[in-house]
Amino acid sequence: MDAQNDGRHVVIVGGGFAGLGCARKLASHADVRITLIDKNNYQQFQPLLYQVATSQLSASDAAWSLRKLFRKNPNVDVKLGEVVSVDPKTRTASARDGTAYQGDFLVLAAGSQPNFFHTPGADQNAFPLYSLDGAERLRSRILAVFEDADRDPKLVEAGALNFVIVGAGPTGTETAGALADMINETMPAEYPDLAVKAARVYLIDHGHAVLRAFSEKAHEYATRMLERRGVQIRLATSVQEVAADHVVLSDSTAIKTRTAIWGGGLMAAPVAGRSGLPQGHGGRIDVRPDLTVEGFPGVYALGDFANIAGPDGQYLPQLGAVALQSGYWAASNILADMAGRPGAPFHYHDKGIMAMIGRNAAVAEIGERRHEIDGPIAFAAWLGAHAYLMSGVRTRIDAFIQWAWDYFSKTRGPQVLDRSGAARIDWGDEDDGGTAVPGPGPAKDKS
Ligand SMILES: Cc1cc2nc3c(=O)[nH]c(=O)nc-3n(C[C@H](O)[C@H](O)[C@H](O)COP(=O)(O)OP(=O)(O)OC[C@H]3O[C@@H](n4cnc5c(N)ncnc54)[C@H](O)[C@@H]3O)c2cc1C
Repeated sequence: MDAQNDGRHVVIVGGGFAGLGCARKLASHADVRITLIDKNNYQQFQPLLYQVATSQLSASDAAWSLRKLFRKNPNVDVKLGEVVSVDPKTRTASARDGTAYQGDFLVLAAGSQPNFFHTPGADQNAFPLYSLDGAERLRSRILAVFEDADRDPKLVEAGALNFVIVGAGPTGTETAGALADMINETMPAEYPDLAVKAARVYLIDHGHAVLRAFSEKAHEYATRMLERRGVQIRLATSVQEVAADHVVLSDSTAIKTRTAIWGGGLMAAPVAGRSGLPQGHGGRIDVRPDLTVEGFPGVYALGDFANIAGPDGQYLPQLGAVALQSGYWAASNILADMAGRPGAPFHYHDKGIMAMIGRNAAVAEIGERRHEIDGPIAFAAWLGAHAYLMSGVRTRIDAFIQWAWDYFSKTRGPQVLDRSGAARIDWGDEDDGGTAVPGPGPAKDKS
């Protein structure tokens, strides 16, 4: 703590679940000053990104203004800025515009970025689904291939309606189910002249199960639900290359596609590498049980940005509930420190894990004893868990319930082709087998 100030300024980098959890808890203490920095002026709600990508939700339904969240808290100063480096000794975060934010406490909660595991072409050509920007670009690409194939049905032969999803974890599985529902239920009515039945959704994973982190029963249920929707699952298969117009698999087969979706893994946001802190597994910052970083009192790392060990010594998974709870916990420990008391070790209340596999089909393993459910009851649990992540903000929950109703009643979602870059596809001369075409470009999401 610096001698010249009162020890009550907290700088938080990242307004996701973790940063917001911390800021919201501290905000109710009028004598604590909080500076919340994010490179976006909104919180993106990652669990709803695939609904944006598959046109079930508009982007504004999955992002909320940070200023609005704190407009009744004069002690919270929201700053739009990308933090490019951190000095943990002085607890200072420096933004790209040169502004330095120095606090008595520094909370690092900058989340994740996709991990392409050095797969050739993936960063250039795959569509990662981890940011609002990425979800909007993917939505425009999905709509664009349908529009192009509708004008020129020969493009179906060139793989226009092939969708390859890399990674059968929750992100890939949920996206595969939603995309298959879109293809089976929405697109035939939208494109009556197009042979939509020719569309294919492939789900590729190098492991041996869909939803590997779940129970065997969940693997079977998810596989059954996806296959019922026509999804072609390739397990024990890795993606060797993502080209602009095809994907090469480890069994040497190539699938023609202009839409490779990356759900293959995450690592810490780039600023972790410029934080002066040691990086552990996944490039994340290892933290002590009280969520501070060893050797740097007053510096906290939270959520997806941190490796937080559970009671068994294993790192907790990258989940919204872990991030949110770690944010609340860090705030409590900061308040304890301000009062001259020691911080307490983080205890995660395991809410379970769940995934939705298309309309009305979900799996959930709830509570610390992992009670398994599936089908419509699991779907209801999924809704409840996501309402919890919305931190009780009424307007968010209203919009979410509206979406759930539309989803059940099969009301078509918004279909706006608004990202011209992702929508413009150079199909080349298909009679010559086509030419290399530009994909989405390097993953340079703003989030
Ligand atoms: C597609 C998808 C679906 C998911 N579904 C679920 C689900 O159903 N249930 C669940 O529990 N979890 C789910 N997760 C995981 C969950 O979303 C994450 O664990 C959670 O968002 C992590 O919260 P966080 O606050 O650590 O990071 P984030 O929510 O990613 O927030 C990080 C914030 O930091 C900001 N930031 C990053 N770098 C900088 C910088 N240099 N300067 C300033 N600001 C910066 C970002 O803009 C962002 O606002 C999903 C994740 C994805 C990608």
